[in-house]
Amino acid sequence: MADDPTPIQVDSPDARRYNRIRRWLGIADFVVGFAFLIVLLVTRWSDWLRDVAYRLGFQNYSLSLFMYLLLLLSISKALGMGFDYYGFSLDRRYKLSTQRFRSWAWDEVKGFLVGLVLGAIVVELLYFTLRQWPQHWWLIAWALFMGLFIVLAQLAPVVLFPIFYKFEPLDNEDLRRRLVVLSEHAGTRVRGVYRWRLSEKSKKANAALTGLGATRRIILADTLLDNYTPEEIEAVLAHELGHHVHRHILKSILVQAVITLFGFWAANWTLHYAVDQHLFEELSDFANLPLLALVSVVLSFLLMPALNAYSRFNERQADRYAFESTSSVEPFISSMNKLAEQNLAERTPSKWVEWFFHSHPAISRRLAAAKEWDRKHELNPQA
Ligand SMILES: [Zn+2]
Repeated sequence: MADDPTPIQVDSPDARRYNRIRRWLGIADFVVGFAFLIVLLVTRWSDWLRDVAYRLGFQNYSLSLFMYLLLLLSISKALGMGFDYYGFSLDRRYKLSTQRFRSWAWDEVKGFLVGLVLGAIVVELLYFTLRQWPQHWWLIAWALFMGLFIVLAQLAPVVLFPIFYKFEPLDNEDLRRRLVVLSEHAGTRVRGVYRWRLSEKSKKANAALTGLGATRRIILADTLLDNYTPEEIEAVLAHELGHHVHRHILKSILVQAVITLFGFWAANWTLHYAVDQHLFEELSDFANLPLLALVSVVLSFLLMPALNAYSRFNERQADRYAFESTSSVEPFISSMNKLAEQNLAERTPSKWVEWFFHSHPAISRRLAAAKEWDRKHELNPQA
């Protein structure tokens, strides 16, 4: 690559520092949450919280379970609040966020309430199956969860995302037509292209293919639409369409289904073991919720490198689709460079950081792959 006219730029000290702080923030948040679950179980505070919840819930099982969840989520939010605020002020310090404190705080409140509603649906379902079918609850709960997961994936673009951001149909007719042609070429049944008003809160740019079935849509941040050429936006969209062409959403749901089945099996084994050891009187004693959470946290942590590797594989496939479906790789390369700069991304993270944390290949690798594809294509246009 000695004669390469656009050498891969090195990371600025700012990008390095920002990403290092972000990473440590995530690790600290994880450790505190993990320790909280352990402490709840070891000190038997979970039993005490359950008794408080029963008093608040008038001794009614379902209502008391909700109260227990409310107490648990409130304490863990209080424990993590410092990290959340630090993350917000960090983004402001690095000029990545345009959000005011009040707007941020309101988002935090909304996020907490959304988490509470979703969490309540999940735990009520979970403990209902535990009470009804103590032996086979994990299989039934798994089937219910997968159903819920698919419904949520469908509802998210129309119900969840609008709680935090505004969306409107893309108004640029010329660009719209170009994107529709590109979508048709990919054989998609994309139900619309939306302008995502991200600039109210962030300087970062983003794009995504979201939803399922009738809610399948492409969302493009205004921070992208307003600063990128139509060719660059096409390149970004072509990558998103690559996910569609390779059926990545469906495949991810299948992978998730297998992992969740194993997770429920492990949860069942752990709960039965805890009851055998007289840590809890019965399976449906919801003071064991931190134990269930712990099983899920440990499993997610152990699987993170594998799931990230799978995701990076999918991202490389989507990139290759983008190279093939656009006339030149130049817009892809320039959009990647713009995105890296705008989002203060690390182009060349260390190998282990990429292996463990990154769901996308390093930008330097994605650029190198684009140039390599271009070089091969030039030598042999039939390839
Ligand atoms: Zn992607």
